[in-house]
Amino acid sequence: MEINKKKYNLVVLPGDGVGPEVMDSGLKITHEIGRLFGLTFNLETRLVGGCSYDKHGVAITSETIEASKKSDAVLLGAVGGPKWDSLPHNEKPETALLRLREDLALFSNLRPATVFPKLLKESPLKDEIIKEVDLIIVRELTGGIYFGIPKGYNEEKGWNTLIYKREEIERIAHIAFQLAEKRQGVLTSVHKANVLDSSHFWKLIVHEIHSSSYSHIKLSDMYIDNAAMQLVSNPSQFDVILTQNMFGDILSDIAATISGSLGMLPSASLGKEYALYEPVHGSAPDIAGKDIANPIGMIASIAMMFNYSFNQPKAGELIQRSIEDVLSRGYRTIDISRQNENTSTTTKITNEIIESMNQLYEIDNKKMELN
Ligand code: NAD
Repeated sequence: MEINKKKYNLVVLPGDGVGPEVMDSGLKITHEIGRLFGLTFNLETRLVGGCSYDKHGVAITSETIEASKKSDAVLLGAVGGPKWDSLPHNEKPETALLRLREDLALFSNLRPATVFPKLLKESPLKDEIIKEVDLIIVRELTGGIYFGIPKGYNEEKGWNTLIYKREEIERIAHIAFQLAEKRQGVLTSVHKANVLDSSHFWKLIVHEIHSSSYSHIKLSDMYIDNAAMQLVSNPSQFDVILTQNMFGDILSDIAATISGSLGMLPSASLGKEYALYEPVHGSAPDIAGKDIANPIGMIASIAMMFNYSFNQPKAGELIQRSIEDVLSRGYRTIDISRQNENTSTTTKITNEIIESMNQLYEIDNKKMELN
């Protein structure tokens, strides 16, 4: 879904914990891009997660789902927190995420993990292991064990169903192969086909699609347990990782060790009609309300929105370069300052990124004039 226009409708769902803080940063960046590129944004801000439960008795209302369906893109902060931990399973804030994904049919979740050269030292992994890493995890988002029926628990047992239909595998495989075509042409299909029937089926379908349409892509298979190990021991071997819902959930948190912090990772959830952008991290209740959350995951998600939904690659690129510029000038939130240098607040990092955007934009324009 790509649109090319000047005015965009955004549904904004800040959520709980650090969600509103990082959303505030994301919106500042969005408006600055608007100012520089002549774009305007209609914002409709709504409750989601625990704060929605407190006001409406549900983690997300049907009105919010309907508003999201009318938007050009949905922006989400994060949901959840200890206040709502004791709620019954089907009332928890996190049910809002599953409902958004299901009702908006957001079946593909793209989670890039890259290394910023200036952050090599902040990763718990060794420089030589991560310095070449540039990978993207394509996670199936509306199927698998998170949605399979029957599911439930009683006093004796708990159960879930891991089921994948042919068409669910086919559509996510096409997304991943097409992404690999635009990148290095290497795709790793991650599953547990040695144990799980549903994974064996996944493997067969991915190979079927490979032979019929993408035989120019280098396809390999990897079991999830090995993939988790390889992601920390030899992550630069990966280009596109295609995997099921729960495996992708776990692998993308592991990928955070590469970028230095969960707070750095962006994501895009795309369907045929709708799109949602959110950082990978949760509501981080331990640091909420202190203006210390890393806003880069949210800001990089905004860059993905300009690339994937609004067909504004120059805007996306400007945001990305500005993030790199601010990191290279030594600004760090506390989660990425392993070297104990001075740390900056969420607000400071955001303002510095805006400053960089303006400087880089001006430099680009001068270069264009000279040419
Ligand atoms: P989390 O991602 O909230 O936090 C894990 C760790 O990473 C914490 O130490 C936290 O301080 C740190 N962290 C996370 N985001 C950060 C940021 N932007 N800057 C700096 N540090 C950051 O995961 P959790 O602690 O397992 O879960 C907390 C709550 O969030 C739970 O209620 C969980 O269900 C919910 N959750 C929501 C989402 C979502 O909204 N998409 C995703 C995961 C977890």
